[in-house]
Amino acid sequence: MQTRRLENIGVDLPLLTFGGMRMPTKNGKIDVPAAQEMVDFALKNGIRYFDTAYGYHEGESESFFGETLTKYPRDSYYLATKLPVWMADSLEDCEKIFENQMKKTRADYFDFYLLHSLDKEKFQKVQEYGAYEMLLQKKKEGKIRHLGFSFHDTADVLEEILNTYEFDFVQIQFNYIDWFQKDARQLYEVIEKKNLPIFVMEPARGGFLASLPKEMEAVLKAANPEASIASWAFRWVASFPLVKTILSGMSNMEQVADNIKTLSDPKPFTPKEEEALKTVVKMIMEQPTIPCTGCSYCMDCPNGVQIPTVFKIYNDYIREKNLGSTKKKYFQDLAPECRADCCISCGVCLEKCPQQISIPEQMALVDSVLSSL
Ligand code: SF4
Ligand code: SF4
Repeated sequence: MQTRRLENIGVDLPLLTFGGMRMPTKNGKIDVPAAQEMVDFALKNGIRYFDTAYGYHEGESESFFGETLTKYPRDSYYLATKLPVWMADSLEDCEKIFENQMKKTRADYFDFYLLHSLDKEKFQKVQEYGAYEMLLQKKKEGKIRHLGFSFHDTADVLEEILNTYEFDFVQIQFNYIDWFQKDARQLYEVIEKKNLPIFVMEPARGGFLASLPKEMEAVLKAANPEASIASWAFRWVASFPLVKTILSGMSNMEQVADNIKTLSDPKPFTPKEEEALKTVVKMIMEQPTIPCTGCSYCMDCPNGVQIPTVFKIYNDYIREKNLGSTKKKYFQDLAPECRADCCISCGVCLEKCPQQISIPEQMALVDSVLSSL
């Protein structure tokens, strides 16, 4: 595994990080033996950084890592988790969450700790509660080694946060679609000015860039028949010098093995590959899909709509135009009370979506397209 140096804190990190938000599941719970096997394999093959969060897998992810990693020497891996300020009403709540996280993960300290998913509003809460100062105190007590934040908002909000507090690293959503279609370039430039290490999340944009529509895959395969589709997304991200590690929320062993292979020695693109990638970006930008990453932060919808599932079925339909499979997934596998037409535009989900998707408007669109199939 290639490692990269974080000069500001004197740490070398493997380029691939194991993300704990999309582990394999069975009957709605983490499939512990399968996930454990993936963690064991990851450690044997050079991954050392494990990233979890309070809410991942409805709270199970932190406990899973507590159970799984403690059989290894504590200095053989890095553990990261995050503070969800939106789940707290006061500094006391933040303290309670932090103590609970230490219990669940069975950790005496966190190597990396993040304020989770900051945007303008959550940053205001951080300031109002004094959450940053609390975490700084935890750092002094040795319970946190390195402090950062994950981020989902515009470049000016990012700049405001970085001008207000000092951090050791920043975690942003970064991939070739967000670069060309959204504002990942501006975010990168703001962090570059501060010369801080970047940890990347959503390198394959919720798995979309790992499994492209057939016509796009054909373009990439023609340029490099050996490379997996996911490897293009990872190599693109790895080409940026400030990127020190890339988080991947892997769901099976094949993904772990493929990502390890790619990031052991991520080669720069050849001119032919660059051309192919440009073509694919153009093709993606012409598709009217909804930019949902499947993160589930918008859930639960008080009216029962399975928002990420509905958007996934719609996006798959737009990309593949597979009528039979879409009808089965939407009308047979998904209960009527979970479909797009159950959205009453209450707006409860709106502020929770880090991608700033106008969920009620998109639900109306999805309903008009899918209900007419
Ligand atoms: S706007 Fe629609 S999808 Fe969002 S919470 Fe309300 S009913 Fe659910
Ligand atoms: S709609 Fe937004 S919050 Fe909900 S799953 Fe998609 S990206 Fe995540």
